[in-house]
Amino acid sequence: MKRDIIAGNWKMNNNNAQTKELIKQIAPLVKDAKCEVVVCVPFTDLDTARRAIRGTNIKLGAQNVHWAPKGAFTGEISADMLLEQKVEYVIVGHSERRQYFGETDASVNARTKAAIAAGLKVIVCIGELLEERETGKTAEVVIRQINGAMAGIEKADLKKIVVAYEPVWAIGTGRTATPQDANDTIAIIRKAVRKLYGKTAANALRIQYGGSMNAKNASELMAMPEIDGGLIGGASLKAEDFAKVVNY
Ligand code: PEP
Repeated sequence: MKRDIIAGNWKMNNNNAQTKELIKQIAPLVKDAKCEVVVCVPFTDLDTARRAIRGTNIKLGAQNVHWAPKGAFTGEISADMLLEQKVEYVIVGHSERRQYFGETDASVNARTKAAIAAGLKVIVCIGELLEERETGKTAEVVIRQINGAMAGIEKADLKKIVVAYEPVWAIGTGRTATPQDANDTIAIIRKAVRKLYGKTAANALRIQYGGSMNAKNASELMAMPEIDGGLIGGASLKAEDFAKVVNY
C-alpha cells in the first residue's frame, strides 16, 4: 500500500523565529497523521526547521536544488548541501520557478536527476496554464512535462519521486480543480508514466494534487482514487489549516 504524502510549500515565507514557532504549533496537531508529512522551507530556515522537527513525524524539505555538485552557480544550492542539512525531500520545477526563473522541462530533468543521484527524494511539479486548459491542451502539456521530467531516469529510481500535479491557474488563486478534473488529469499523467515504466511502477508512483488545497476541500480531493497527497502553499502557513489538510 502506498502512503499518501502531504507537503507544505512555504515558498519565500517565515524567518527563523517564525519557522520554529510554526513547527511547534503544527507538530502536536499532525502527530497521528496516517500520511507522510513534509514541510518545504526556505534554505535559510532549514537549520531551524531541522532542529524543530526533531522527535516529530514531520520531514524536512527544500524548494529547489541545482544539477551540478558544486561550482560557479551564484545563488544556487547543491544536493549535497541539502543533504548536509538533513533534507529528505526537494521540490523541483514548481510553476513559480518555471514562470519567474526560466525553469524548463530540461532543467527540471537535470535537477531531478542530480537530486536522486545524491540521495534526495524529489517532488516534481507539473501542470498546465489557464490558457492551455481553456484551449484543450491540458493532456498534451502534462504528458510533455512528465516525459521531459523523467527523461533518462531509471525505473528503480521512480520510488524516489513524487509527482505534484498543480494546474497553474489553481495555485494561490483560491480556484481549485474539481476533484474529478484533478483525478482525470492525474490518470492521464499516470498513463504516461505507465508507458515509460510499466503498470506496477506507475501504480506505485505517488501523484499529489496542488492548487488552493485547503482545510475545506482536502477531504474530497483526497477521496479521489488517483490522488495520493497534496502540495499545499497558502494553507501550509497556518498550523490549524495545514493540520486539517494532513488529517483530511
Ligand atoms: C503551491 O505553491 O504549490 C500551491 C499549491 O500553492 P497554493 O496552495 O497556495 O495554491
